[in-house]
Amino acid sequence: VQARLLHLQRIESVGQLASGVSHDFNNILGAIIGYTAQRHRLHELDYDPATDAPAMAQALEGVELAAQRGVAISRKLLSFSRRELAVPSDFDVAAALSELQPMLRQLFGSSVAVELSTPALPCVVHLDRAQFDLVMLNFAANARDAMPDGGTFSIQVGLEEGQVALRLSDTGVGMSAEVMRQAFEPFFTTKPAGQGTGLGLAVAQELTQQGGGSLWVDSAPGQGTRFTLRLPQAAAPLTGPAG
Ligand code: ADP
Repeated sequence: VQARLLHLQRIESVGQLASGVSHDFNNILGAIIGYTAQRHRLHELDYDPATDAPAMAQALEGVELAAQRGVAISRKLLSFSRRELAVPSDFDVAAALSELQPMLRQLFGSSVAVELSTPALPCVVHLDRAQFDLVMLNFAANARDAMPDGGTFSIQVGLEEGQVALRLSDTGVGMSAEVMRQAFEPFFTTKPAGQGTGLGLAVAQELTQQGGGSLWVDSAPGQGTRFTLRLPQAAAPLTGPAG
């Protein structure tokens, strides 16, 4: 029964995924067709490069932006649907996050303080490293969007009950109970069209479940948001710290 239920849930979320994607791609293609309609002016006798060239350039820019949105969606979709292609390996979460830190600082800019605290002991997990990086960057992008006036983004790594715990907190706008309830659903987003795909947290959920871990959120409007990930600790690497 349990397996059947999971199977049905999966079919349902695939259906949701498909209709969300078709909707997004329809919008994107509609925008591209709209912009390329400009090309008809090229065939008109009154085409005047001085006045029409800037409009053409603008239309091309619109096409480029729309196409970039399509690429972003299909990338996220790939990491969501190709979980069979994940290549898990053992890596230290603390080291991985240290490596990501420069990118995080760049993503947040100067108005947000980025804090990373890691334990002295190794925190080795068994996951697809590229997906882990993507998921961390997505948590960060969400935190940035939640803190338009700046704030603090902190990542705490720890070992709890034989598991690796990761806490990602921001001092942003927080979430209502209604948003929290739906946040992990594929294609749920509160962001303006074109800015959110609603896949970030669904992918994070997938990655965590696939790694045998759990992911939950604590938040309240105006109180910031904290995501907690718990992952099984992989066997310590052979070349662990001596002593
Ligand atoms: P997206 O970022 O594309 O909207 P996600 O799945 O990553 O998709 O997030 C879904 C929704 O969850 C967001 O639109 C937002 O409403 C909410 N959310 C996620 N992270 C945060 C956060 N750190 N603070 C406030 N709301 C958040």
